[in-house]
Amino acid sequence: MTRKILVTSALPYANGSIHLGHLVEYIQTDIWVRFQKMRGNVCWYVCADDTHGTPIMLRAEKEGVTPEQLIERVHDEHTRDFSGFGVKFDNYYSTHSDETRQFCELFYQRLKAAGLIEARSIEQFYDPVKAMFLPDRFIKGECPKCGAADQYGDNCEACGAAYAPTELKNPRSAVSGAKPELKSSEHYFFKLSDPRCEAFLRQYTHHAEGRLQLEAAHKMQEWLGEANEHKLTDWDISRDAPYFGFEIPDAPGKYFYVWLDAPIGYMGSFKNLCAKQGLNFDDYFKPDSDAELYHFIGKDILYFHALFWPAELAHVGFRTPTSIFAHGFLTVDGAKMSKSRGTFITAESYLQQGLNPEWLRYYFAGKLTNTLEDLDLNLEDFVARVNSDLIGKYINIASRAAGFISKRFDGKLAAADAQLPAIRAIVEAAPRVAELFEAREFSKAMREIMALADGANQYVDSVKPWEMAKQAGKEAELRLACSNSLNLFRLLTVFLKPVLPAVAKDAEKFLNIAPLTWADTATLLPAGHAIHAYSHLMIRIDPKQVTALVEANKESMAPMKRRAPIRDKNIEKHINKLQSDNEAAGALTTENIPQISIDEFAKVDLRVARIVEASHVEGADKLVRLLLDIGEEKPRQVFAGIKSAYDPAALQGRLTVMVANLAPRKMKFGISEGMILAASDAEGKTSGIYLLTPDSGATAGMRVK
Ligand SMILES: [Zn+2]
Repeated sequence: MTRKILVTSALPYANGSIHLGHLVEYIQTDIWVRFQKMRGNVCWYVCADDTHGTPIMLRAEKEGVTPEQLIERVHDEHTRDFSGFGVKFDNYYSTHSDETRQFCELFYQRLKAAGLIEARSIEQFYDPVKAMFLPDRFIKGECPKCGAADQYGDNCEACGAAYAPTELKNPRSAVSGAKPELKSSEHYFFKLSDPRCEAFLRQYTHHAEGRLQLEAAHKMQEWLGEANEHKLTDWDISRDAPYFGFEIPDAPGKYFYVWLDAPIGYMGSFKNLCAKQGLNFDDYFKPDSDAELYHFIGKDILYFHALFWPAELAHVGFRTPTSIFAHGFLTVDGAKMSKSRGTFITAESYLQQGLNPEWLRYYFAGKLTNTLEDLDLNLEDFVARVNSDLIGKYINIASRAAGFISKRFDGKLAAADAQLPAIRAIVEAAPRVAELFEAREFSKAMREIMALADGANQYVDSVKPWEMAKQAGKEAELRLACSNSLNLFRLLTVFLKPVLPAVAKDAEKFLNIAPLTWADTATLLPAGHAIHAYSHLMIRIDPKQVTALVEANKESMAPMKRRAPIRDKNIEKHINKLQSDNEAAGALTTENIPQISIDEFAKVDLRVARIVEASHVEGADKLVRLLLDIGEEKPRQVFAGIKSAYDPAALQGRLTVMVANLAPRKMKFGISEGMILAASDAEGKTSGIYLLTPDSGATAGMRVK
């Protein structure tokens, strides 16, 4: 059955540039959407700029333009950056639109009628010079906890404390420098604390419902607390003039604040798409809709998307999200992106430096999981991984075979051998790889695909077309070998197409075929099929390009803040905790490991090993039994504790590295004659095990030193 799917990514704020940290989410979402489309599902991907708020108003004023002019310019920049990275929205809209305004008013009226909007008078800092109320971010002063100077009104960057702006010592307005005054004003609140919202959310966020990742579901239950705790607080949904946004219909001088316009922008964008495409909006948003709705977000806005947003939708009379997919943050070289180190890299500068966006798409795919864990862009590893996997393993298959077919056989293929083990392995892996894409386990999918590419390369290395080409009378064999290779390349291209759309498009052109879909994993190119001449599909990264990129970003532009840092202190604490948990878990230290001499290291005999056979071990829940060829007469038997990360079937044929002179060890299941090398996180963590693989071209038995 064809599924109907609507997908969103979080709305970037129209007050700054897209950087590599943002791209994690858009690339993750785009890969998933492209995969769904290749499967034949109806899938729409919408997003928009989040355009309202005081920062936009003030920035426009500073630049001497209208807010409308500013958001239009930023919209163009964002559109350029996203399309530069192959992120293909079906609609990229703006929250400053009629559709969004109408939905905001509808939400407000219905929530008010349901008794879920309440007016309350609150005291806020007011700038007497500028004659405006000040958002927390526009108040600066000394931290009430540690005394650090020049801190924002919501939290301290020196000690991490969260507080109310009224707690700051010696507060001043960041707009005019004036001493702010406390002034009371009437605000509107969405009553998230209402028993109806709480009852709904207890069920909605329960992990048994499957809407949230396990970690997120647990976090939500923690935030909800016990039934008698009533931990949810009401959310302020209004701001006073002057403000750039939508005025509340029955409250002149009051404007809808972010909670009541940004996420509604998802609906505004989709409504706009419906008009363009002739779709029925209600099919996707009526309460009993059979369409699926997914929000991809960063973990910092989980509270808002998993509690506030579904509670609003449910009480306005719309469907609620099928699932919310949160991801972690990006670090570069193991640390927070930093302007002084040049690792705060904008999308624009990456493209301007001439780096191929698909390198980054592939690298991110290789790191992305379906958890909330942070991911690291290690710049050295980035170069190595792209060159070894994409060029060494994937592109090479085509480049080595295409020339012979073009020059010797007029570009025409022979029928490929459907029984060739490397071809059968790929065909059989297709459902498994599809499951991994569906589950957003992209890193596992990439590993599986590269293992299959290793199998393809081993086939090419074993038949050696370049030697056949030098021998007389080997024409038919050469043509078959190259036809097999090009079919292997085509099948791998299907798997990589969601990640590398531009390369896939060029490959389709080169292979002279219609756009590949997932169903093409079950077919081969027919005998006599003519390909076009090969031209470069992708080149290697020169490490100098990465150095230049980092140089170009040293002290670049101001970071783009996602709108509205979460103001509820309780939540802030939870989020800080969530982040520090992750940081603590990721912290590895090399301090306590003693040094060794080169002679000591040389005693270890490391060899490239080919996994001849891999099988489950009856009664062992961690072990896989491997037979390893290291160029000796008989393969070695090794028991490896990698079952949690690898399916034995996927290991067969791939290369790894083993310690060959480790004294044999008698284990419960037999004798282990060595050890294979794998990387993993600090003990006790379940982030995975990563088997080492030599660069392509290495053969079994080679010494590693
Ligand atoms: Zn502090």
